[in-house]
Amino acid sequence: MKATNFFNFDNTEIAFSYLSDKELQNAVQIFKGMSYASLVNIGSKATLLALKMHLPIKSVLKNTVYKHFCGGETLEEVKKVVNKLDDFGINVILNFGVEGKHTEEEFNKTAASLHKTLHYAVQNKNINTISCKPSGLIEHNLLEKLTSGIRLSDKEFLRYDKGRNRLRDLVKAAYKNKIHLHLDAEETWIQGEIDNLAFELSAEFNRDFPTVINGVQLYIKSKLDFLKTTLEHAKKHDYIPAVKLVRGAYMEKERNRANEMGYPSPICETIEETHKNYNAGLKYCVENIDTFHLSNATHNEYSCEYLAKLMEENNLQKNHPRIVSAQLKGMSDNITFSMAKAGYNVQKYIPYGPVKQVIPYLIRRAQENTSVEGQTTRELELIKKEIKRRKKT
Ligand SMILES: Cc1cc2nc3c(=O)[nH]c(=O)nc-3n(C[C@H](O)[C@H](O)[C@H](O)COP(=O)(O)OP(=O)(O)OC[C@H]3O[C@@H](n4cnc5c(N)ncnc54)[C@H](O)[C@@H]3O)c2cc1C
Repeated sequence: MKATNFFNFDNTEIAFSYLSDKELQNAVQIFKGMSYASLVNIGSKATLLALKMHLPIKSVLKNTVYKHFCGGETLEEVKKVVNKLDDFGINVILNFGVEGKHTEEEFNKTAASLHKTLHYAVQNKNINTISCKPSGLIEHNLLEKLTSGIRLSDKEFLRYDKGRNRLRDLVKAAYKNKIHLHLDAEETWIQGEIDNLAFELSAEFNRDFPTVINGVQLYIKSKLDFLKTTLEHAKKHDYIPAVKLVRGAYMEKERNRANEMGYPSPICETIEETHKNYNAGLKYCVENIDTFHLSNATHNEYSCEYLAKLMEENNLQKNHPRIVSAQLKGMSDNITFSMAKAGYNVQKYIPYGPVKQVIPYLIRRAQENTSVEGQTTRELELIKKEIKRRKKT
């Protein structure tokens, strides 16, 4: 697909203006490593093993991959990145990146950290969004049962209700402080119940402010219809439907499960189909922007150009208050900084948390950067170009 040139995504001086020479050199090493799929697979397994064996790899990770993709272990450490981005007019989505928790005690701890994150966002003018994984607050197996239509026992229901209240308390606090809350989209076998919760909480807390922003993965064939259902539900219950469009990060896992369990994979058959679905999702939201709040969460240059084109065709101002684009820290700075410079609303997604606990997130980033054809090569090319440019000046 050909871009239409609203932005200059090749201008590396703009793209990497917030990175030091040392940070650029670190990025080169990381993307070089990630360009070898086998290295990533071995590296991911070796990292998990080393952590299990309590080998001292934390400082290596912290100064390399972690530093590139994460904001810091504590809010104090995150501050530096947040302030730097503020200098460039870029907003932050702050994510407490800890995953894979299972006990009541762990869920309560995560909830406390999310409230702390929210409180921190309130104090910083360029953090207007925080994000959370619903499975970090509610038991995964209960979400799975409800998604597949299985009734919970009384005891299970009590545990589920505690989880739902943890999420509701967070949404309520976000609403009170006018901070957006991204509900990250997860695996399809738990997403059904997450979507139900998103509908329920949006009806309560999105009346005059888009508090709950629900993640919608357009690599799933049925998600274009889901956007239509979202709009209908919002109109019926009189609230602002807010969505974060993503292509989706669990493709292999989804396909493997479908294969193992013998049901048709919900994922688009080809990447071209995913692109088509995603861009159709953008079109649908922009054409209904009098109702929708849209977050275009992607590293795809064409989709960002296409969004700008759609906005122009629909006579929408560049910094339309209901449209924002977002990229992850460490990826596609050329998109984030070019769009910001051109006057569009952009955000950078910054995960933070203890190194060991952010490993699943880092492994997803590594796998994503090896599996997406051309993505790593593109990042590497741009970073090398900038290093060369700086040497000349
Ligand atoms: C701010 C932000 C928030 C995010 N939040 C979430 C979230 O809540 N949940 C989540 O799941 N992900 C989330 N992501 C991750 C996002 O899903 C990945 O970054 C994304 O998958 C990479 O896609 P891309 O849009 O950048 O596009 P591209 O790099 O153009 O496309 C790659 C994507 O296309 C799809 N794809 C690749 N090969 C195929 C194939 N053969 N067949 C079908 N489809 C294929 C996959 O989804 C793959 O990731 C988020 C990303 C951002 C930037």
